[in-house]
Amino acid sequence: MSTSQHFLHELVGSMSQGADGNPTVVMIEAAFRHHGLHWRYVNLEVSPEQLGDAVRGAKAMGFRGFNCSLPHKVSVIAHLEGLGESAAVMRAVNCVVRRGDRFIGENTDGKGFLKSLRTVIDPAGKSVVLFGAGGAARAIAVELGLAGVRRITIVNRSEARGAELAGLLRDALRLDARLEVWRGEHAVAEDADIVINGTSIGLYDGGARLPIALESLRPGMVAADVVFNPVQTRFLIEAASRGCIPLDGLGMLVNQGVVGIQYWTGIDPDPAVMRRALESAMGV
Ligand code: NDP
Repeated sequence: MSTSQHFLHELVGSMSQGADGNPTVVMIEAAFRHHGLHWRYVNLEVSPEQLGDAVRGAKAMGFRGFNCSLPHKVSVIAHLEGLGESAAVMRAVNCVVRRGDRFIGENTDGKGFLKSLRTVIDPAGKSVVLFGAGGAARAIAVELGLAGVRRITIVNRSEARGAELAGLLRDALRLDARLEVWRGEHAVAEDADIVINGTSIGLYDGGARLPIALESLRPGMVAADVVFNPVQTRFLIEAASRGCIPLDGLGMLVNQGVVGIQYWTGIDPDPAVMRRALESAMGV
């Protein structure tokens, strides 16, 4: 990492256990090129045992930050020097940012979703039905809470996981959050403004069907999916056919990258350039 050239190569990266970050690398580097930044985003395979050494190494080598994916999202916290607001509530980090000489943990999963959601609706004061209570749903729910939604109904198959998330939203954010255990076809409440598939149902399976009573989806509701491959999931297609406003999971992924680049570089990258690069890397 030499600074002997007359331009500086700043480094950010992705710490994951496998080589699953490649489309993200292409997307982030496309933004760097587009905006004339002499930065690199590199994929680094890090085992759980070596995470602490890797974080200290990134700091020693002058990294401006990095993303981290499973299984590092929780364990990385022990190696950081502070947490952003939503990361502190959800106790999970997917984006580390150097601020001064400190590595601070942020979570851009939910922020990416929110940025994408805001292109179609302002969530403040709205009623949300969120299917799922795993990592993605948790990140989304916390950001929605911080954005001032009126109510969140968590619908989850596992009661324990759903209750834990609803409890976190009530205790940490004083939110009107309730759990409905998912058994059979779920009828979405009439007053819902935003319906979100935060589960992995539909990932790599365009035929997979979310157990929802389709007739409970009303025209004008926003129907959002976290699943990004396929981009047009069966849930989104069926919701659009009922008059809902569809929002795909690729927008969440792109905007996570947008937020990360904003944190690391201070610039506001062009999401359209990033989406095109991501689509071409994913072949979608
Ligand atoms: P988790 O494993 O943490 O959670 C999975 C969730 O899906 C749980 O709530 C689980 O319910 C539920 N679920 C899975 N299968 C079923 C089923 N057959 N019936 C009912 N519920 C089911 O996964 P993540 O939260 O990390 O990821 C979820 C999805 O989000 C993935 O598809 C991932 O690719 C996507 N994602 C998208 C991002 C983006 O930027 N677009 C970012 C991050 C993730 P239970 O608790 O009962 O097991």
